[in-house]
Amino acid sequence: MRETKLTAHDFVLPLFVSEKIDKQRPIASMPGVFHLSVKEIVDEAQRAQDLGLQAVLLFGVPEHKDEQASGAYAENGIVQKALRAIKAKCPDLVTITDVCLCEYMSHGHCGVARIDGDHFHILNDETVELLVKTALSHAAAGADMVAPSDMMDGRVGAIREALDAGGFDQTGIMSYAAKFASAFYGPFREAAENPPQFGDRRSYQMDYANADEALREVALDIDEGADIVMVKPALPYIDILWRVRERYGKPTAVYHVSGEFAMVKVAAAKGIVDERAAVLEIMTALKRAGADIIVTYWARELVKWLRE
Ligand SMILES: [Zn+2]
Repeated sequence: MRETKLTAHDFVLPLFVSEKIDKQRPIASMPGVFHLSVKEIVDEAQRAQDLGLQAVLLFGVPEHKDEQASGAYAENGIVQKALRAIKAKCPDLVTITDVCLCEYMSHGHCGVARIDGDHFHILNDETVELLVKTALSHAAAGADMVAPSDMMDGRVGAIREALDAGGFDQTGIMSYAAKFASAFYGPFREAAENPPQFGDRRSYQMDYANADEALREVALDIDEGADIVMVKPALPYIDILWRVRERYGKPTAVYHVSGEFAMVKVAAAKGIVDERAAVLEIMTALKRAGADIIVTYWARELVKWLRE
């Protein structure tokens, strides 16, 4: 009689590849999550596939950062190298790449910044140009799907047009359509080494008080050609997830983010909750609320638990 059943195909595993290391390095605020070298991420991708997972989401940590985020679209950038290596070993594993500039920008913002005295602006259209270059270089390196996470206006349409013109009409777009400025991203900033050096991201991420605006953002991304729309974070936005899935009926993803992950990990380590029971309940709730795809740091464990 159970209405909602989790399967291995519900989950996408985020992986972090770093240009700065030869050996994996733990991310302190995210127990069990590591920065990996290119060689290690290939092995990790293979293990994920062998476990029964279908897809990974790649984030890169470059050696150098600059004001134009040039590492994001370098032919030999860290994500591009990782993609080619993973695709050589696991051609059937779906590779999704994070498309953003913050990991590659010296100031840590998701876009090109202009500073006027005490104020700064993120320049939307200049940023979109660089995002397009990044998406194209990922597609050329073998990405099956690109996932713009920056929240600039018009980027999904610009990326779709450039991919089609570049011969990558089969490369999909998973857009972070409703991404809220959230307190739950804290540990990820350590993972991606991208804390903003000044200001915050509220000028381009959404106010967590706004639900109708989220639906408008999602509608725009669908119009511009997004194949999958994403809501991020997950549990505090489960109402948004439900409304997006109900209203648009599009494949809908949700990102269970680092802070949500870390809270359960800390509570479990203190014996306050049972990790496995809590995670299965959370993931079932997300799927019940309409998620077709759940990006989660527990993807590997979930597959094992579902088998038992
Ligand atoms: Zn970003």
